[in-house]
Amino acid sequence: MADNIKRVLVKLSGEALAAPDGYWLYAQTLAHLATDLAETTGQGFELAIVIGGGNIVRGARMSQAGWIDRPTADSMGMLATVMNSLALETALNAAGVPARTMSAVSMPTICETYARQPALHHLDRGQVVLIAGGTGNPFFTTDTAAVLRAAELRCDAVLKATQVDGVYSADPKSDPTATRYDRLTHDEAIARDLKVMDMAAFALARENRLKVIVGSVHAPSSVAAILSGASPSTMVAP
Ligand code: UDP
Repeated sequence: MADNIKRVLVKLSGEALAAPDGYWLYAQTLAHLATDLAETTGQGFELAIVIGGGNIVRGARMSQAGWIDRPTADSMGMLATVMNSLALETALNAAGVPARTMSAVSMPTICETYARQPALHHLDRGQVVLIAGGTGNPFFTTDTAAVLRAAELRCDAVLKATQVDGVYSADPKSDPTATRYDRLTHDEAIARDLKVMDMAAFALARENRLKVIVGSVHAPSSVAAILSGASPSTMVAP
């Protein structure tokens, strides 16, 4: 991929770790993903990874049922991202990729607490840093955490791995005339009301002139293939 991209923050949805039958965590899915990420680091990319927790808990949805308040449900969601990160850390290490989890929610007996300087140090040494616990605050999503950490850690881009291979003019599942954009500016995405990521996250990306790449988590070797340009994607850049 052009654009001088070397350090990338990969945003994965929690569902990227689930089994084909939907079970929340599946060793084969993790191993597959770890192989893909090992290929990516083998190509010379430096990776920070933010994983969601949607395969376990989404706070907004859980609190809608009325029996639990939103901040508590969001705390559970943040904890879910730690579980996912520890699982992927294990799979990455097994694939020979040095990786460590850092959590925005302090839990020192389980993993390192996220702080910018040590995270930069790990990245500079070629380690994959898994950033867990989202932003550490309720009412946010891991999309926002991804953009925030990417800006802090001097990442050249955020790669959002999704169910589809880019940003489309309409929903490709319901509209056969929908076309995929190869490249867009942040302003064009807003003007055309295209959903790249949640609004708070995208506003932060725009403000920081951060590139956002959207590609499919389903392509074989998805992250490696998207970043090398072998798989289609959409690049949102200033
Ligand atoms: N969450 C939060 N603050 C954050 C990030 C995440 O409270 O900064 C909670 C929130 O409840 C969210 C859940 O963690 O629904 C899981 O994250 P997300 O929904 O972004 O996961 P994904 O949909 O990407 O799997």
